Amino acid sequence: MRKQGARWTVEEEVPLAPLTTLGVGGAARFFARVADEEALMDALEFARARACPVFVLGGGSNIIVSDRGFEGLVLKMEITGIRPGADGATLHAGAGTEWDLLVRSAVERRLAGIECLGGIPGTAGAVPIQNVGAYGQEAGDVVAGVRAWDQEEGAFRLFDRDACTFGYRSSLFNQPGGRRYIIVEVSLRLRPGGGARIDYPDLRERFASPPALAEVRDAVMAIRRAKGMAWSPGHPESRSAGSFFKNPVLPAATVEALEEVLGPGTDRIPRFPAPGGGVKVPAAWLITHAGLGPETSSGGAAISTRHALAIVNRGAATSGDILDLMAKIQRRVREAWGVDLEPEPIFVGFEPCIG
Ligand SMILES: Cc1cc2nc3c(=O)[nH]c(=O)nc-3n(C[C@H](O)[C@H](O)[C@H](O)COP(=O)(O)OP(=O)(O)OC[C@H]3O[C@@H](n4cnc5c(N)ncnc54)[C@H](O)[C@@H]3O)c2cc1C
Repeated sequence: MRKQGARWTVEEEVPLAPLTTLGVGGAARFFARVADEEALMDALEFARARACPVFVLGGGSNIIVSDRGFEGLVLKMEITGIRPGADGATLHAGAGTEWDLLVRSAVERRLAGIECLGGIPGTAGAVPIQNVGAYGQEAGDVVAGVRAWDQEEGAFRLFDRDACTFGYRSSLFNQPGGRRYIIVEVSLRLRPGGGARIDYPDLRERFASPPALAEVRDAVMAIRRAKGMAWSPGHPESRSAGSFFKNPVLPAATVEALEEVLGPGTDRIPRFPAPGGGVKVPAAWLITHAGLGPETSSGGAAISTRHALAIVNRGAATSGDILDLMAKIQRRVREAWGVDLEPEPIFVGFEPCIG
């Protein structure tokens, strides 16, 4: 380990698998924890001087690290802290703050808007990136601002909600032009004293009368645990990156045509309206009805016993196993439904190595 002054250190050849929920992949050539903006600047200067690529790591719950590792500097985002705004509705959180801690803090302060997003692993800074969503809520609905370092311009920038261009599992920050931003703070505008959101059928059926925010968060946690979608270290069915595929958005006519092929007497394809007139179809349904299940595996990787949308590491999986299984599922769903499933997690270190 090399000391880099009092604020931060840089380590070499740090295994990344233990820093991810999926638990696969090799080491980072360089690795630094940054707990404030000055340390971030110093770490970026370290990378610039060596012309090595930078990857920002939050909680590692939405990434697949290559077995070769990452030939650059991994910055572990550890700028933390929750600061209430003067308006009584806003919470500002350092990008490295545990997301679930922020949800609990909002619920305790009786601020509505993210109670259904409890139990999602990872950090506050990663939440705007794929516009995290669950059980009828999306982070993009309440993000009021994002403060980020622009690696190209060499300056901090503030993005309001519109500038983030949130969509289904997308935002400015996961588009090619947006990967240059390192998020350091996220601000959420919530609803003081507002009611809990229980649009999602699994949630609605649990409550006879309007529930408190904390009751909804607890109910979401119970549903997540039952589906293996709550991160619990040591439990093999939770060694995943959450949902592995996005739910495809298809033209309504395509779904009708698929249903005609199914014929009468079979399950209808579940569907939800999507912005722009399309129809969102659950990828889990397409996978299950393509004849795939927990017995579908590749090396140490398999489809979860609890949720068809999660690929789990049953103990000794490599990233190669995960990719093989991903390709197997995509191939089978394409054959059965003519639909291409797009993976949700980010692939790290798969591009050609930079020396
Ligand atoms: C059990 C389980 C359940 C899940 N449930 C859901 C769910 O219900 N809904 C949902 O949407 N997702 C879900 N996920 C996926 C995941 O938890 C979220 O996408 C989460 O926001 C990722 O946060 P992270 O800090 O772990 O990001 P990481 O996995 O560390 O990184 C993900 C991406 O964000 C980038 N990034 C991280 N922090 C920053 C930053 N500060 N600045 C710039 N870039 C950054 C990384 O470079 C990477 O590209 C689940 C995952 C698991 C394992």
